[in-house]
Amino acid sequence: MQTTRQPEHITRMRCTICGKAYLPGEHPYICPDHGNEGILDVEYDYERIRQEISPRLLSENRTWSQWRYRPLLPVLQDTPVPPLAVGWTPLYEAPRLAKALGMRSLWIKDDSRQPTGSLKDRASALAVMKAREAGASVITTASTGNAAAALAGMCAADGMPCVIFVPHTAPRAKVAQLLAYGAHVYLVEGSYDDAFELCLEAAAEFGWYNRNTGYNPYMAEGKKTVAFEIAEQLGWKVPDRIFVGVGDGCIISGVHKGFRDMTRLGWIKRTPKLMGVQAEGSDFLHQVWKAGADPVTFPPIQAETVADSISAGLPRDRRKALNSVVETGGGFVRVPDQAILDAIPELARTTGVFAEPAGASPLAGLRRALADGDMSPDETAVLVVTGSGLKDVDATIRACDTKPTTVAPSLDAVRAAMPKL
Ligand SMILES: *Cc1c(COP(=O)(O)O)cnc(C)c1O
Ligand SMILES: [Zn+2]
Repeated sequence: MQTTRQPEHITRMRCTICGKAYLPGEHPYICPDHGNEGILDVEYDYERIRQEISPRLLSENRTWSQWRYRPLLPVLQDTPVPPLAVGWTPLYEAPRLAKALGMRSLWIKDDSRQPTGSLKDRASALAVMKAREAGASVITTASTGNAAAALAGMCAADGMPCVIFVPHTAPRAKVAQLLAYGAHVYLVEGSYDDAFELCLEAAAEFGWYNRNTGYNPYMAEGKKTVAFEIAEQLGWKVPDRIFVGVGDGCIISGVHKGFRDMTRLGWIKRTPKLMGVQAEGSDFLHQVWKAGADPVTFPPIQAETVADSISAGLPRDRRKALNSVVETGGGFVRVPDQAILDAIPELARTTGVFAEPAGASPLAGLRRALADGDMSPDETAVLVVTGSGLKDVDATIRACDTKPTTVAPSLDAVRAAMPKL
């Protein structure tokens, strides 16, 4: 799938394992010397980019979507954007939640508001554009659910067919989205890791454009826009820490890439400490980080957690994710499923933001980091809420301690069961 034209502001595609540099388009996905581990990182000509984008130019830019950062994204100038509004999600200050945690400043980046309900839209919009540039006519991905829903939604908006591989255990709401958007859906009798391998084989066999996380080098580029937005929304003053739920590790790598871009361009003076939150039952990266082990050779684990979006026995972007945490002086935090479930109503009740389990996991991680003394309550933090609570209603119902009151349709019945308000 060698493409003819390549964006001129991309200088190289560098293998994150061997450091070998390739021309853009030379290999569409991975370093040929390193198989599926040879994830490529996109390198840019920052001198050129500097002419087109800066905090000053952004202050006059009225494109209220992630495309306001287009000069920093790996697409040609004339590739059409799928017609759904992606990005520029709100950053809310959360004073009541901060107070409950004994903190002074805390913000919520609300990516539950993306068009298909998760941060994955940032990457999937880019996938459709790269597929168009490559002249592909079908896109495929494996997913725990949200990447698939995002791809299916972007493809529906753009009029491109897509083929999806999800584990048969994917939450119903996510499968419902796929069906509504008209994707061809394979429910794989196996784990996400099985779905991933099958999708890679199918893409190679049938010549489909491959959006897979931790394989397609452009996905972290889409996800990095969340970092640009956080910095811009805070007036280019970065927080001390950013918490994000980690499965494959692509989002945290994207956040890191965004801060690296901004540092290279001189937009910010320092990088926040990136905090990767993992469920106890899906803690591959936490284990590797604690042991100081090599993420590439570390054996896969059997992942099991209520937070399906961060369930990954062999995180595909594990090397980049580990680097993101280590290079920024952050850390991984490991939390039990119950703490993740508890974080859903806590976040919803103190901020009005309703998250799926993985989207609430940053709050559970923040609580843990504070309790363990791994950070000071005087530090400022952003929690990235990566997905909407409507994605997994069953988990929420398990998480809530309150039950609705069934009443006869009479005022007396209401009075008899009146809460203290
Ligand atoms: C995909 C996803 C994550 C984790 O992202 P990775 O890149 O797999 O680490 C977290 N939360 C939600 C809601 C997601 O969809
Ligand atoms: Zn390599």
